[in-house]
Amino acid sequence: MLHCKMNPDRPREECGVCGIFDHKDAAKLTYFGLYALQHRGQESAGIVTSDGDKIYQHRGMGLVPEVFSEEILQSLIGNISIGHVRYSTTGESNVVNAQPFTATHLGCTLSVAHNGNLVNIRALREELEKDGSIFQSTMDSEVVIHLMARHSHLGFDEAILKTVSKIKGAYSMLLMTEKKLVAVRDPNGFRPLCLGKLNNGSGSYVVASETCALDLIEAAYIRDIEPGEILIIDENGLNSLYMEKAERQSCCIFEHVYFARPDSDIFGFNVYQSRKRMGEILARECKIDADFVMPFPDSGNYAAIGYSQASGIPLEMGVIRNHYVGRTFIQPTQSMRDFSVRVKLNPIRSFLEGKRVIIIEDSIIRGTTGRSRVRSLRDVGVKEVHMMISCPPTRNPCYYGIDFPSGGELIANAKTIDEIRDHLGLDSLHYLSIEGLVEATGISADNFCLACFNGDYPVAPDKDFHKLALGSKC
Ligand code: SF4
Repeated sequence: MLHCKMNPDRPREECGVCGIFDHKDAAKLTYFGLYALQHRGQESAGIVTSDGDKIYQHRGMGLVPEVFSEEILQSLIGNISIGHVRYSTTGESNVVNAQPFTATHLGCTLSVAHNGNLVNIRALREELEKDGSIFQSTMDSEVVIHLMARHSHLGFDEAILKTVSKIKGAYSMLLMTEKKLVAVRDPNGFRPLCLGKLNNGSGSYVVASETCALDLIEAAYIRDIEPGEILIIDENGLNSLYMEKAERQSCCIFEHVYFARPDSDIFGFNVYQSRKRMGEILARECKIDADFVMPFPDSGNYAAIGYSQASGIPLEMGVIRNHYVGRTFIQPTQSMRDFSVRVKLNPIRSFLEGKRVIIIEDSIIRGTTGRSRVRSLRDVGVKEVHMMISCPPTRNPCYYGIDFPSGGELIANAKTIDEIRDHLGLDSLHYLSIEGLVEATGISADNFCLACFNGDYPVAPDKDFHKLALGSKC
């Protein structure tokens, strides 16, 4: 039997975008940008290019190197491109929903690549369908294309302003026409999006979800796309339009806890350093006597370094990760308990036996993986297992593009902390406080969405909104 590698007990990243303006190797650079953003989506990938007159595209299911060959990249002609990597839940995982999404209206072609989730998508679709629109996919991006087409008589700038005035929720989006690359970030700034310039002495620009994509293609970081900004890049250079301001900024703090790559700077600060700081603050908030502190690689690696340095408790790597486990593997013929965990992570029995350990994890979602991990330590004779989580209890679902399970499936929604401790088989369990998490970032709580921790949703979803209603998250 084939078993999917994707861990159902982890929150899922939901899409990464990368675009290039004015470079002869636009498709190839986008490919490498997507390669750097692979952690944000592993189910499908796509690139669309323009040579100024015609659009070329390729989308497929799988990882970036599985979807694109050298030959395919060479067929993607042009100096402008946008690309997308996507994660989707089972059932929605088909190529129709792969992005970028492209359509032609009155002779003009528009492609859209979207990271986020629109919370009024159902009402918008119904309205558009009543007016005669026919949809091919369940993607938010397709709604954006229809709205742009509806307002195309107003000219591009007005059409895009009208379109964003209708959509609500989280969107860091790239749009491409035959001659323009456009970067759009919602007024709350939920998801990251940054602008860079290629180091080739020309006016080539890059826009990407994370700065690690800029690093790989040797582009210099210029700045983040601002919340509420529409940045249009064309032959005239850069021009920004602005949407109506949101009541407050609400960048997703979970990007720093878990989603983003540690070598990226997200919302103006580095992820590696904020994760390390989460561990330092955790050590200040909770002191435990133990022989050493360790992560289950790669969850909690950087917070574990911070915890160790701040507490003086040595850091050890008592569990070894098998780096060669693929996306799928054959299950053993006889039922082997916790096989899926052990095939990837193996505790070192002779080292761990009789020890008191502190495990650092970045989050607990359903608790099923945590339980197997703790059991694997007990099985090799670990005397005490304490667990520290480098974020507060995750009690509420996310409506802004992150695939958490529904409220009831979140273990911190259903159980008290003591109950979770007992369920996982731990000697003790501690979570970082909300204040500690915000402090680790170095900027004030007003800048962040913290809804999955405190239930304070910055943009109310529509009444009948259900996060899986259309399977259109990205
Ligand atoms: Fe991020 Fe949580 Fe807010 Fe979703 S609810 S945007 S995961 S902070």
